[in-house]
Amino acid sequence: MSERRVAVIGGGPGGLYAAVLIGLTCPDHEVTVYEHNADGQTFGFGVGLTASTLSSLDAADPVSAAAIRRAGHLGRGLDMRVGAGVVLDGGDNIAIGRASLLEILRQRALEAGARIENAHVEASELDADLVIAADGVRSATREKLAAEFAARVDLDDALYLWAGVDFALDRATFLPARTPHGVFVVHAYPYGPNRSTFLVETDDATWRRAGLQTTDARTPGGSSDEESLDHLSEVFAHILGGRRLLGNRTRWQRFATISCGRWRHNNVVLLGDAAHTAHYSIGSGTKLAMEDAIALAAALRGETDDATALARYESERRPRVERFQRIAEHSHLWWKVFPRRLDLAPATIMSSFMTRAGNITVDGFATLHPDVVADATEALTGSRPTTAQAGEPDALADLVLEDHTVTELSSDTAIVPTEPIADVWGADGAAVVERARGLQARVLWLEDRDATARADVLSRFALAERLRLDLGATVGVDVPRSARADAVGALLAGRVDLVRFR
Ligand SMILES: Cc1cc2nc3c(=O)[nH]c(=O)nc-3n(C[C@H](O)[C@H](O)[C@H](O)COP(=O)(O)OP(=O)(O)OC[C@H]3O[C@@H](n4cnc5c(N)ncnc54)[C@H](O)[C@@H]3O)c2cc1C
Repeated sequence: MSERRVAVIGGGPGGLYAAVLIGLTCPDHEVTVYEHNADGQTFGFGVGLTASTLSSLDAADPVSAAAIRRAGHLGRGLDMRVGAGVVLDGGDNIAIGRASLLEILRQRALEAGARIENAHVEASELDADLVIAADGVRSATREKLAAEFAARVDLDDALYLWAGVDFALDRATFLPARTPHGVFVVHAYPYGPNRSTFLVETDDATWRRAGLQTTDARTPGGSSDEESLDHLSEVFAHILGGRRLLGNRTRWQRFATISCGRWRHNNVVLLGDAAHTAHYSIGSGTKLAMEDAIALAAALRGETDDATALARYESERRPRVERFQRIAEHSHLWWKVFPRRLDLAPATIMSSFMTRAGNITVDGFATLHPDVVADATEALTGSRPTTAQAGEPDALADLVLEDHTVTELSSDTAIVPTEPIADVWGADGAAVVERARGLQARVLWLEDRDATARADVLSRFALAERLRLDLGATVGVDVPRSARADAVGALLAGRVDLVRFR
């Protein structure tokens, strides 16, 4: 078999891991990785890897997987610091410093026979049989071939910055801070014995009221926005204990959701963030990039026709990636509205958080954390079930539904006219709120209209929550019998007040 030249643009986790796996499993491929940043010079702090991703890494290359596990920091659950707070113990996810992860992958790529060059390159100038564009969220390769890749970039209106602290939090921590300007929210997690990632997000209006848009303009390129770090160090002084937030080219950004109708064009294939992104609140960007690399290397192995291999890679990965992107979008919207839920009971917020994307039902959550679900039940019904009752789906459903189910609508209920809407928290949802505002009824009701697909049911619950938050109304929803567990979850999460089974 003749030697095939593979050029990888980008030495992030996706590009380096592709070089490792192609080097190990495709002996006839000669791989060169081009990375324009100097060795060890990377942005960011720690990234999370779930237990299931670690299993995939074990299977793909046990040597680098073992090194990643050794360098990683085991997560010890989750802490939602709202009100009295809720802690969930357990979990077997790890987090690892991005710099450590890249160093492991660099060394392993060299061992696997790849060359790594410190150079800025463009796909069109590379003399290679196959070009893997793993050049990140701002991929110039994707931008230059935007039409060919049917690329779409949706920029969020909220802002976030990625900072760090020099101590290890006990566990992944979510912490909102109310300030005179508005709410800032931290997503933080430990990734080493004396390091934690500390991501802060806020909405555009809060950011402007706090004057932080002007600090960005004063920050030279390649530096951290020190004024914002000072400001946030004060806002979160109670958790930082006098320490200051650390920056690493840290500045405010708007999250870019990338999706592409095609991931390949001629001999160029997109991988990782260049092809797709999923909101940071599900912590899966590195996972997706590395799992892309696993699929691409597997598709290339033993295949002489690159076009066939690339088609196989895309058909294998696209459905999985798109599923994650859907989950991530639910999570993204949930966090956008998070500051408006701060007066709910902590266990209600935690139940809402766990069920935010629909991939975890309240029954699944209750199996692992019945005590939290018992607290949420008490917040809803006024009496606390035993943890055994909370952990048993039928017993829980009976308790939750007893006083929150109706069979007939009362005379002081108004039906809210709705069409199926795509954008509950955007303009579509706002239009429904305006229609509902004029109805002057004690209870607002969202009818079934034969929409029984689970996605439609979950969307109705989201719309109910918007009506509750925007109008302070009592809101009921028609639910198909098949969605009993989702109805229990929506009640416990404070999305809806009443349900009627159809
Ligand atoms: C705030 C935040 C929090 C995150 N948290 C998590 C988390 O908890 N868990 C998780 O898994 N992921 C997380 N991520 C996402 C994660 O960092 C990325 O999704 C991941 O790094 C994508 O890997 P990649 O290899 O596709 O791209 P990147 O890591 O972006 O790598 C691209 C590389 O290409 C190089 N490059 C670009 N253009 C060129 C060129 N023309 N020539 C040469 N080199 C070039 C860049 O220097 C870079 O090194 C987070 C991201 C952000 C922003």
